[in-house]
Amino acid sequence: MNFAAELKLPSPVTQIHSPLLTEKKIELFIKRDELIHPVIQGNKWRKLKYNLQQAQYEQKNTILSFGGAYSNHLHALAAAGKISGFNTIGIIRGEAPRPLNPCLQDMLNWGMQLEFIQRIEYKQKTDSIFIENLKQSWGDFYLIPEGGNNPAGIKGCAEILDELKDEYDFICSEVGSGTMLSALILNNKTPQTQIIGFSVMKNLLLEQDIKNNLSATKKYSDWKIIHNYHFNGFAKTTTELDNFIKNFKLDFDIQLEPVYSGKMLYAIFDLIKQDYFQTGSKLLAIHGGGLQGLRGFPQYNYSPEYPAF
Ligand SMILES: *Cc1c(COP(=O)(O)O)cnc(C)c1O
Repeated sequence: MNFAAELKLPSPVTQIHSPLLTEKKIELFIKRDELIHPVIQGNKWRKLKYNLQQAQYEQKNTILSFGGAYSNHLHALAAAGKISGFNTIGIIRGEAPRPLNPCLQDMLNWGMQLEFIQRIEYKQKTDSIFIENLKQSWGDFYLIPEGGNNPAGIKGCAEILDELKDEYDFICSEVGSGTMLSALILNNKTPQTQIIGFSVMKNLLLEQDIKNNLSATKKYSDWKIIHNYHFNGFAKTTTELDNFIKNFKLDFDIQLEPVYSGKMLYAIFDLIKQDYFQTGSKLLAIHGGGLQGLRGFPQYNYSPEYPAF
């Protein structure tokens, strides 16, 4: 990966200071994975790292993957492919929006070939016959599953913990598929640290999905998923959440977005208000990046200039 030198790694950790934290005697730190790279950032960089290495090792020139029309994963893959010299193919769920949204437009600009497929067909994305058919039409490729959620993705996410210099009572993570949360549980080496995941959608099967990534016989330190801060579903937001995110930027100069990091930090502050965490607790929240997704919410007026690479 010839852009490794440009990555801000290990990502910095910022302490948050606020009257509420002082009053409740809680220390809150944020691991700034959104700063790793302007585009190939956060959760999605962590998951791409070993997938790109594996594609290179297998001498594949082309990488194919799946995602929605605002996919952080495909956006990062398109940029990483452009910089590292891979051809990339994005199989997109649903009809092509006209005009294309800025996320899809970036992917095209970075050379990703896009194929839009019906939602029903998209459901077969892990089916071997479906993938064989994709090889018939596109030629050979290295396959990354939707979101980068595979063992290589877990391996990359686990490195978040290797970068920490301090110990924390709670490590907080956004949860979509639970791949990152699984990695944190698997690689947590401090038994007194509890890993807490904040689900960003209604999905009560998550605990089972996580357990499927863990060994049934090994003992892990404490972990849990908090389910009541999904704000009515994936990529749904409210005025209250939007205001929280806008104020967070004004107060702490940290940009959040309403799909993942906004929901997690809203939840953390709400739980602190409710004395959920014992006085004296030290918390780390992992900002998973994904800021490009803000462009799907016009109320944020977010329109960064991304490089052409
Ligand atoms: C994709 C994504 C997630 C979801 O991670 P999982 O490993 O699927 O739980 C979280 N945060 C951001 C910013 C993402 O882009």
